[in-house]
Amino acid sequence: MTQEPKRYLITAALPYANGPIHIGHLAGVYVPADIYVRYLRAMGRDVAFVCGSDEHGVPVTIRAEQEGITVQEVVDKYHNLFKQSFADFGISFDIYSRTSNPIHHETAQDFFKNLYDKGLFEEKTEEQYYDEVKGRFLQDRYIRGTCPNCGNPDAQGDQCEKCGTALSPNELINPRSAYSNATPTLRPTKNWYLPLQDYAEWLREWIVEGHKDDWKTNVLGQCKSWIEDGLRPRAMTRDLDWGIDVPLEGLAGKKLYVWFEAPIGYISATKELTPDWEKYWKSADTKLVHFIGKDNIVFHCIIFPAMLKAYGDFILPENVPANEFMNLEGDKISTSRNWAVWLHEYLQDFPAKQDALRYALTANMPETKDNDFTWADFYTKYNSELVGILGNFINRVVVLTEKYFGGITPAVGKLQEIDQTLITTIAEAPEKIAQSLEQYRFREALAYYMDVARAGNKYMQDNAPWSLHKAGFEENKERIATILHISLQLVANLAVLGEPFLPFTAGKIRTMLGLPTTTWAQGGSMDLVKEGQTVQNTGLLFDKIEEASIEAQVGKLEATKKAREENATENKQEPAKEEKKTLVPLKPEIDYTDFEKIDIRVATVLTAEKVKGADKLLQLTLDTGIDTRTVVSGIALQYAPEDLVGKQVCLLANLAPRKLRGIMSQGMILTAETPEGTLRLIAPHEVVTNGSVVK
Ligand SMILES: [Zn+2]
Repeated sequence: MTQEPKRYLITAALPYANGPIHIGHLAGVYVPADIYVRYLRAMGRDVAFVCGSDEHGVPVTIRAEQEGITVQEVVDKYHNLFKQSFADFGISFDIYSRTSNPIHHETAQDFFKNLYDKGLFEEKTEEQYYDEVKGRFLQDRYIRGTCPNCGNPDAQGDQCEKCGTALSPNELINPRSAYSNATPTLRPTKNWYLPLQDYAEWLREWIVEGHKDDWKTNVLGQCKSWIEDGLRPRAMTRDLDWGIDVPLEGLAGKKLYVWFEAPIGYISATKELTPDWEKYWKSADTKLVHFIGKDNIVFHCIIFPAMLKAYGDFILPENVPANEFMNLEGDKISTSRNWAVWLHEYLQDFPAKQDALRYALTANMPETKDNDFTWADFYTKYNSELVGILGNFINRVVVLTEKYFGGITPAVGKLQEIDQTLITTIAEAPEKIAQSLEQYRFREALAYYMDVARAGNKYMQDNAPWSLHKAGFEENKERIATILHISLQLVANLAVLGEPFLPFTAGKIRTMLGLPTTTWAQGGSMDLVKEGQTVQNTGLLFDKIEEASIEAQVGKLEATKKAREENATENKQEPAKEEKKTLVPLKPEIDYTDFEKIDIRVATVLTAEKVKGADKLLQLTLDTGIDTRTVVSGIALQYAPEDLVGKQVCLLANLAPRKLRGIMSQGMILTAETPEGTLRLIAPHEVVTNGSVVK
């Protein structure tokens, strides 16, 4: 965009209502978005900053089952927690909405209907994995299995989180239901697909040609590889219980795909914010910027833009400055492994130290590569930079003003060269910081800001007003006044320029100086504090963090790690015990022809129930691909009937039928018998067609 936009629409990724907010979220998305927005507001620009909780999709329903509460209770709990955490850390949304609001359901349904009426979806009936135990279709994160690319045994149906490969469920090796762990079966179902390949050329021109100079290389790289790999139709509807109904007649149990409707949440939230929402979404002179983490690039750069293009009236993002990941003490942050610093816990342990965390996360922001948060680094940065530079400078100026001039801003006298140098540094700072912010280089912007504070510290040190005071206050009074006057202007500038990064600290400085509000345009001025104006010493800006409280944080993480390692060792011990038992000796040699007589087939368990009066026996109905048959198996002590339904087994299919407890058993299910006599079922490594021959 060559002309300056008339207004800005800034979105931050909708956090998923499945676990509390941690430092990775803050560093990746919310702190950079908030810095940018606070800067724009200080510039006097028209900004709408929107966000909200993403409350649909897969994991919330699983969590509800795990916690034994309703899905609504799960999403309410996290929505309120998110809202509180964001408010606590000064993330200054204009609106924080949620996707369970009726206005969002309507907006998303209208969007779907628009594309549907224009005939822009492909209707396809396809076989999909189905969990017979839970009676549900399995997509995306509902289905887990081994990644064909990297071997990660816990890859999701839509993506492997370990290697980042996009997957479809049928590519998973050993698929299993995330609900019940059952091996799924295949069932036909109809869904509506957005033919992304139709938008490929347009996306290539728009992103690869159009934004090659202004989008971040990590974002461009991912987009290019998606487009070059060939875009495919992507289902925009799902067979689920929880979500937004597909707005078509007679489709009970079909919902909108969460990545179809969640980004529309930005539109719904804007609608909720203002009746004038269309000016933010439909005027070419609005600049739309999405702040997200790298795992959401494809959804914000490929799928959502294709949807917006298909709808037709909406503007497209000008930029998507996605960050890489913030790790914690050398390990990937993980909600499920409890490897995180949770915001609500941080504030309990470090009350009123929001800016300390904002500072550490910005100074180390993972803008171009994954970065690491360590408590040692947090402690060092706090002490040497916030306390040692910024806090120290401001404290000295305020205390000396109080001591020498009774807290009244003294007059400025004749300027020396050293004063002029500092004045130039101050004058140049706003533009320098702004340029970095405009290009989403937040670390650099913060470093420039700290350079200003550093220059102030040096100015104090070089001029040493305390020495002049000692040498004789009356004869040096004008010079001391000038030094403190200039220093107070610099303190005021640190409030103006610090507002985007350290909003709580900026507020405290304003209180000290009696500046109710500031604008970016005031930055660089040497007239922010007037002669005669009262300066209040309200105490240290950054008080001491005890080393013990840092050690406590490290200890907490070490305990988590230790618990995890102990778990892993316990799990390993079982097979080791088994090895000590005596194994059954080998049977006499046979010819292949003997083996050929045996017909072993893969079959799926359709039903399973206990046999009355026999606590070891289960009666199973099997789909063998050839027929449906009944088999009685002695595995009731090891397997509950509900764990078997939907699982594949190996069946000795040509064994002569025999009656067991009055039931005709047509074959035998194969198991491995451990030396202790425990039976474990034998199954193919991945789902295969029933009736496949085992040889
Ligand atoms: Zn993988």
